[in-house]
Amino acid sequence: MKKTLRDICIKNKKVLLRVDYNVPLDKHLEVLDDERIIRTVPTIQYILRQGASIILMSHLGRPKGHFIPSMSLYPVAKYLSKILNIDVKFFGNDCISNETKQGVSQLQPGEICLLENLRFHCEEEGKNSLGEKDTSAMYKFAQQLATMGTVFVQDAFGVLHREHASTVGIVRYISNAVVGFLVENELKCLSKVITNPLHPFLLILGGAKVTDKIKVIHNLVNKVSHIALGGAMAYTFLFSQGIQMGHSIVDNDQLQLAKDLLRNEQHKLFILPIDHVIISKNNFIDGKITDNCQFIITKDNMIYDKFMLGVDIGPRTVNLFTKFINLAKTIVWNGPLGVFESNQFSKGTTAIAKAIAQATRNGAFSIIGGGDSVAAVKQANVNKDISHISTGGGASLAFLSGTKLPGLQVLPNII
Ligand code: AMP
Repeated sequence: MKKTLRDICIKNKKVLLRVDYNVPLDKHLEVLDDERIIRTVPTIQYILRQGASIILMSHLGRPKGHFIPSMSLYPVAKYLSKILNIDVKFFGNDCISNETKQGVSQLQPGEICLLENLRFHCEEEGKNSLGEKDTSAMYKFAQQLATMGTVFVQDAFGVLHREHASTVGIVRYISNAVVGFLVENELKCLSKVITNPLHPFLLILGGAKVTDKIKVIHNLVNKVSHIALGGAMAYTFLFSQGIQMGHSIVDNDQLQLAKDLLRNEQHKLFILPIDHVIISKNNFIDGKITDNCQFIITKDNMIYDKFMLGVDIGPRTVNLFTKFINLAKTIVWNGPLGVFESNQFSKGTTAIAKAIAQATRNGAFSIIGGGDSVAAVKQANVNKDISHISTGGGASLAFLSGTKLPGLQVLPNII
């Protein structure tokens, strides 16, 4: 068990609080989705109530070590000010400049500031200015950050699987380090499905990348009752069985692993699509689907035409998956079941989002992780009905894979 905020005294201290405010902004730099901001509010309010001051640290986007005005965290500071109803100070465009350090040194108990985007410094991600891996540069940058506070609180679940200055590095210089309430809650919910899941336990995986999800399958294969596969990753599994997939995306590097998983005695665990929504390859250009394109629903799990490719699960597959969802007591879902970015082909993903929400209303425990699946439950307006929506797609997959999260490993345990 990791030490939490409740285990330490922070009165009159300066608390460096790592949050994940990597939120989408529109072209006017307005916050489009504030979920990650809202979820940190309990931690912030608790720290302020204890009579400490807060130095918030986050990244936004992928500036790769450059100052990029559209990736400034200034709009987020303004947004947070409105939510908290107090001034969130912002001391300029460099998180470790003298101006910033000066501003931070004058913070009084109960006051809060947000530092500029950490990734404007390439050292945050453990690289030097040439883009090469450079651990000593990472630690030097972490040391600079650490001079600004005496307590470190980790509440950025979404970056715990990264070995960065503000996750791993900073703990070398601030031993008084704990997890915040957001991370504590993520760990509680995700641990529950690993250590003590109620059965039947249904794992639903979709999306296009197979590698990370195969690790989750390996780790959970003995714990789940069933694994439903959709999205492009299902084509790799079907193709590994010699089933024609036409022009669909297949990950050839993962074919053998998929074959092995389906071959062993646990193959009955897997629920694969029994029909597909398919389109012509001429309508799929650079990973994007042309508007109002013609589609066909296949009769079975094969795609005979080598010029056609799958873009969504078909209606019979939706019914099949829904049957298992209705029976499940624990449901974990990561990855869309089709190219849901296209309205035409979001039907499968939306139907599954709604089915999971209904099962949760009927008493199941559900976890959804991964930016696309989270967007899908929001799009379907059923996010309030999900037991736990993870703020970290990659981090939750890593956790469910049994991979140690470096940003968590470095934090002290309760003795
Ligand atoms: P991932 O990051 O692995 O979860 O993959 C998410 C992406 O998978 C989304 O952008 C989807 O559009 C894409 N995807 C899902 N199903 C399909 C499919 N049948 N064909 C192509 N791409 C898909």
